[in-house]
Amino acid sequence: PIVLGIETSCDETAVALVDGARRVLAHKLVSQIEDHAAYGGVVPEIAARAHIEHLDRLVKAALDDVGLALGDVDAVAATAGPGLIGGVMVGLVTAKALALAAGKPLVAVNHLEAHALSPRLTEPDLDFPYLLLLVSGGHCQILVVEGVGRYRRLGSTIDDAVGEAFDKTAKLMGLGYPGGPAVERLAAAGDPTRFDLPRPFVGDRSLNFSFSGLKSALRRQGERLLAEQGGLSDADKADLCAAFQAAVADCLADRVARALDRGPAGAALVVAGGVAANQALRARLAQVAADAGRTFQAPPLWLCTDNGAMVAWAGVERFRLGFTDPLDVPARPRWPLDEAGAPVYGSGR
Ligand code: ATP
Ligand code: MG
Ligand code: FE
Repeated sequence: PIVLGIETSCDETAVALVDGARRVLAHKLVSQIEDHAAYGGVVPEIAARAHIEHLDRLVKAALDDVGLALGDVDAVAATAGPGLIGGVMVGLVTAKALALAAGKPLVAVNHLEAHALSPRLTEPDLDFPYLLLLVSGGHCQILVVEGVGRYRRLGSTIDDAVGEAFDKTAKLMGLGYPGGPAVERLAAAGDPTRFDLPRPFVGDRSLNFSFSGLKSALRRQGERLLAEQGGLSDADKADLCAAFQAAVADCLADRVARALDRGPAGAALVVAGGVAANQALRARLAQVAADAGRTFQAPPLWLCTDNGAMVAWAGVERFRLGFTDPLDVPARPRWPLDEAGAPVYGSGR
């Protein structure tokens, strides 16, 4: 099938056409980073309006790129949550209108499911079940992906998401938004051993995470430097970023190693979500998997942060199983992945 996918849950307006042979036929994305930069984070109302401004044009451009008409697609998929509700509604309502106009089924996609299934778009041999570390701007979870719509959560953060921690760290040092790429760049030049930061939950029996204490510890170190020397040099910032990233890597590695023991025997380790674009973290997780004798998979970088292709691909996966949705399916600001349930939300076919 050819599926049109729409993503509008945060600050990327994204559209893609993906088919059942894993081909990304078209891929369009407008990032609103500049619209939100002055505010140091995403402003929901600005995001929703920007989605309205860009979405129609991106859909047309995607179809034009490959010379397809709306009637040539087999289904229209859109993120229906979780996310900033105004933006989600823009994308979902647009998808409903397109589905209705074309007489094609609608697939309401859980944004986290789109991240969770994204590695299967580029990796044909990645079979269920797999152990997923989902690390993004709003989430940090370990899940067993048992199948499409079938997720079992083993652990999650009790406070900040890991991407959020990267963003706050960047903000603290005036590195701008989004923080992840900036922190990664500086960390590469820094000394991770100069500052001592905590490793919350490392060694704990649970499979949970916590990043707010780490962030506070980092802030205290920064404030101490400020008081002592009146400012932060580039080297100081690099060392702080390196310390932060090393602490995050230790936390993720410890939790994932423990989860590999508890999850399905022999299951591959997969990482997805925006933070999965971090090369240092990918390398560390690859090592954890190798030590446990497991396969490691991570999507290509462009597929880690929000995009339309992962939504279209989740649409392909659901559509193939007959999970389509009625046109009155609601947009959901909150939607835990363990409720993404095929049986609950699929009409069946
Ligand atoms: P969610 O998917 O939980 O709803 P989101 O869609 O806003 O949240 P994503 O687009 O998946 O989040 O990821 C964005 C997050 O990824 C941001 O917090 C950003 O800082 C982080 N990120 C992006 N690139 C990197 C990187 N190279 N290193 C670390 N973090 C990164
Ligand atoms: Mg974003
Ligand atoms: Fe996301």
